[in-house]
Amino acid sequence: MSPMQPLLIENVQILELFDTQKPCAPRDILIENGLISAVGVGIAASDVRRIDGRNRLVMPGLINAHFHSSVNHMKGRLDGMPLEIFMLYESPALDELAPSPREAYLRTMLGAIEMLESGVTAVQDDVFFVPYPSPEIIDAVGQAYADVGIRATIALDQPELSEVEKLPFLDELASDDLAAELRLRPIFDAPKLLEQYDHLISRWHRAANGRVRAAVSCSAPQRVSPEYFRALDRLSRKHDLPFYAHMLETKLQRVFGAERLGGRSLVRYTHDLGLLSERMNVIHAIWVDDSDLDLLAKSGATIAHNPVSNLRLGSGIMPFRRMRDRGIPICLGVDEAIAGDAIDMWDVMKTTGLIHNITDPNFDNWPKAREILECATAGGARAMGLGSAGGEIAQGELADLILLDLDVMAFTPLNDLQRQLVYCETGSSVDTVIVGGDIVVDAGNTTRVDRSAILAEARALFAAKAPALAKAAAAMERYRPAYRAMYDKAASQDVGMNRWVEQST
Ligand SMILES: [Zn+2]
Repeated sequence: MSPMQPLLIENVQILELFDTQKPCAPRDILIENGLISAVGVGIAASDVRRIDGRNRLVMPGLINAHFHSSVNHMKGRLDGMPLEIFMLYESPALDELAPSPREAYLRTMLGAIEMLESGVTAVQDDVFFVPYPSPEIIDAVGQAYADVGIRATIALDQPELSEVEKLPFLDELASDDLAAELRLRPIFDAPKLLEQYDHLISRWHRAANGRVRAAVSCSAPQRVSPEYFRALDRLSRKHDLPFYAHMLETKLQRVFGAERLGGRSLVRYTHDLGLLSERMNVIHAIWVDDSDLDLLAKSGATIAHNPVSNLRLGSGIMPFRRMRDRGIPICLGVDEAIAGDAIDMWDVMKTTGLIHNITDPNFDNWPKAREILECATAGGARAMGLGSAGGEIAQGELADLILLDLDVMAFTPLNDLQRQLVYCETGSSVDTVIVGGDIVVDAGNTTRVDRSAILAEARALFAAKAPALAKAAAAMERYRPAYRAMYDKAASQDVGMNRWVEQST
């Protein structure tokens, strides 16, 4: 690769998250070899590309720490519905929905462009594959991220067990014919999935100048066998990869523990297997109790909070303050484009700043703008295994930075930068995005790919695919009554906690 031209951002306002609330005097930032090499006043440098920072803010890029790009083409397709019903329509494992490599490339690219242009410099993509992963589709996803210039971590989110093993009550609630079908396991078993991981890690881990990396995913502990769960942990340990696991997203998943795990929660079950670790990203963690939180705090795992998805699917509200009080690291994520439906981290930050306020009358416990920004930057960097290289603008840190125009409504008048970032900004003020020292968005547009050609091709391709998607959704209707009965049965159980906001009178 040709060496990147050094950048000098001059006279720019820097967002200070940890030092002071007060804006300090504008400074210069020198970027060389993908890193911030100096921060100061009047930095002299030659042979650099200069960026005029006047009337602009520079801050660490946002990190979308939990995401599934597999459904980037499905935004707006579904009404709100609970996860267990939603998943029927989100990813039916039908051969006819299998994407071509070009389709997988385009859909990944759509999300990547949307993220980059709104100031997201890094994403953790927990990719699921319909009906199963292949090297060609893994390569298409990796190539899209390599081409567009975002920092990305890719995992294979592939359940191994059958529907009746993953879900309580379904076996008895489904008709005999349906239950027989729901007892079938996916054809991709653990050895086949581990082969795909070999490909992912050997081809994509630390690819594209280190920007693209691998992670592992079990999807959720109840969706895999303990043997495969352990094998993934070994891979994660061997290569030092983040390990993604959805846990206690819904009340039904709490009921699962009562029914199938001898009363243990999925967090305790994972702990008992010895698999909670500081590499683990525990996704959602809504229906957790205090003993789960104690285990999570001890393990060093990070929680991925996805409040917009949790509202869209009616999953419940995560106990944010009880986690923070235990020192549990939190990162923020969009989750996916049919549970969002915009791939919008500003929306996620604002929702984080609002939703927890109705869970506790003690307003001292409500999230503050500074901690929300910290979760969206440094919290995500920790979850990704980037160490401290995010959330701070200092010498030696990764140059994953965004510049925002301050000459806009959101910041006029400028009263409090942190609160106005969380509550006023929508992402529309982001005009320059730098990832690993490379300018990947300039004047609001991606620099490395032909945006309008990609959008046009994606529109045509997904219009042609719409009948297959509609047919697949119709085919799922026959499962709905049994799944609905299962959901209703779980919803009516007493699990000793409530994470919904029910209005009793
Ligand atoms: Zn998810």
